[in-house]
Amino acid sequence: MKDKFHLKDWTVRFSIEDVVNGDPDAWGHCKVIYGRKIANVTLAEELVRQDEQTIKQVIAHELIHIHLNAILESTRELLGPLSADMHNSINRIMHLEIERATDTLSFVIADLFREKDLQNNDVIKVDKITIYD
Ligand SMILES: [Zn+2]
Repeated sequence: MKDKFHLKDWTVRFSIEDVVNGDPDAWGHCKVIYGRKIANVTLAEELVRQDEQTIKQVIAHELIHIHLNAILESTRELLGPLSADMHNSINRIMHLEIERATDTLSFVIADLFREKDLQNNDVIKVDKITIYD
């Protein structure tokens, strides 16, 4: 799946944890090291019990984050000279808008994958979850 997201030259690692990033309501989290093209995606154990379409949507969500979170990296440099309050306000708005865009796009992409059968070689098994690679 990561190739379909134009992440062919990236190392994308998936892991499963009981609680993702300290948030019991989160189904996924993505930590990205842009300089090394490495992304560590953590998925919640609870996600394994969801339907296949939900799993695809959550994985798509995290893979989109790899692209869009670069905006946060870039703007962090610009926010440096601003006051802490301004910095926090802009940062909060950026996170919110990126989250909204990421979530919307993840549903669109998951629907596209629903309509097109994935090839057998797109499927890999990681721990207890099937992930489309
Ligand atoms: Zn997100």
